[in-house]
Amino acid sequence: MSTINESLIRDVVSEVLGRLGGSPAPKTSVPAPVPAQPSCSCNGQAHSSASPGLRGKFGVFQDANEACAAAHEAFLQLQHKGVAARRKIEEIVKTFADKHAAEWGQLELEETRIGRLDHKIEKLQIIRLVPGVDWLRPDGHSGDHGITLEEYTPFGVVGAVTPSTHSIPTLSGNVVNIAAAGNAMVFNPHPAAAHCAVTAVRAYNQAIYRETGIENVVCIIEQPTLDSFSAMCKHEAVRLLCVTGGPGVVAAAMQTGKRAICAGPGNPPVYVDDTACMKRAAKGIIAGASYDNNLLCIGEKEVFALETIADKLMAEMERNGAVRLSSSQLDALTKSAFTFQSGEGGGCPHASVNRFFIGKDPGVLAQAAGVNLPSGTQLLFAETDAQHPFVVEEQMMPFLPIVRVKSIEEGVARSLEAEHGYKHTSIIHSHDVDAMTTMGRALDTTLFIKNGPCMAGLGLGGEGYLSYSIATPTGEGVTNPKTFCRVRRCVMVDNLRIY
Ligand code: NAD
Repeated sequence: MSTINESLIRDVVSEVLGRLGGSPAPKTSVPAPVPAQPSCSCNGQAHSSASPGLRGKFGVFQDANEACAAAHEAFLQLQHKGVAARRKIEEIVKTFADKHAAEWGQLELEETRIGRLDHKIEKLQIIRLVPGVDWLRPDGHSGDHGITLEEYTPFGVVGAVTPSTHSIPTLSGNVVNIAAAGNAMVFNPHPAAAHCAVTAVRAYNQAIYRETGIENVVCIIEQPTLDSFSAMCKHEAVRLLCVTGGPGVVAAAMQTGKRAICAGPGNPPVYVDDTACMKRAAKGIIAGASYDNNLLCIGEKEVFALETIADKLMAEMERNGAVRLSSSQLDALTKSAFTFQSGEGGGCPHASVNRFFIGKDPGVLAQAAGVNLPSGTQLLFAETDAQHPFVVEEQMMPFLPIVRVKSIEEGVARSLEAEHGYKHTSIIHSHDVDAMTTMGRALDTTLFIKNGPCMAGLGLGGEGYLSYSIATPTGEGVTNPKTFCRVRRCVMVDNLRIY
């Protein structure tokens, strides 16, 4: 629809309402549309439909309240521009994430200094697997009393928090889902991964503005703090929260009083029994636990192996490129990778992960363990007991503890302890359907993967779609556009059923 037609329609509606004695149509309720702009050197100042103070920012704000106000304006414009604009945003984000994967992957690695470049790049290339506008199909009911449609409609502005482990990928996947549902959004990113997130947001908004005329669909706080998080959550335009991170941010989001979709922490256990193919199990475990140096929340973090096959499994892991540490090497690594505070562990010192080692290359861990690695080593492992800090803590390092168990019952019980009730992800390698069913029921996790690496649970080598925000404590599961919708019912009584 052109600008002229829209203003003409507004004037006619105003006139008609005026003659009927009603109030004239509110001219300012929906900001006047701006035609798509060619690239221009004015930095948005001349053509933007954003309010004067919010122009030329392309989504990047210092102040949380300003960001929320800008996102609210953008939401109203997006509502007006319809599904075509949402589709365009989805296309822009998917195309840009792929096109800039190498550059942005490098940028994120340089800023955060955690993970692996090849996987940082891949995590952006696969944004195309995130579901968008086509996911939203209304549900219809038709019968003697007419027809009813249940529509998936937006909330308005969504306030989002992203982790340091996958900053641009989480942000990009969230943008596809949230905008596909017709919402605008504000991000309070992790402070240690904010610069790369800001770069992506600016690029997305510039392209979205060029193509749709809307300037601030995706807003971000350039220097995020706990105060900016609070201000974002409190802003009246923010109707829904989506936080991705550890226990702290989940607890904080749940205390805001707003509805929160929480993608929380995990500590995924793996159980391997004597019916599994050891080679396939070893390869799957290495692929999953070494992905981005084990930064994935779904990544294999500890293995419980039936004692009859534990040696075979470890031999197969060595044959497939993982390096086994001796007990003295494990002790040396443990002393570096954890700090032990006395008095917090019921008499025993409590282990906390030493952040320096999170997401570091196997070579860095090997140095701490005092071992030389063959080049190309992706993963270290060692045999431990079930109470070892590498089992208990969500450690996010390319090291895997292997624990022997006597039975499926013990394997499941140990897995449950290690998972801490996060209900996030669990994995089994087995061809025994009873064992699969027993573990699936007992662990009660959001993702349960059988005979593959963790990534299979997000559509990489398994069926299904991708999201980097898996809502675990709040139960929405692998987030998708419907997660960010209000379901509204539209009922036509006794009519329009056409047969
Ligand atoms: P983190 O918890 O340190 O930070 C996550 C985000 O929350 C950051 O933006 C941080 O600034 C913010 N934050 C932290 N504490 C906060 C508080 N009290 N109030 C407000 N904001 C707060 O996590 P991280 O190291 O960046 O990421 C790793 C964690 O995230 C792991 O626990 C991992 O399992 C989890 N994670 C979960 C998913 C999922 O889909 N469920 C995806 C990725 C990461």
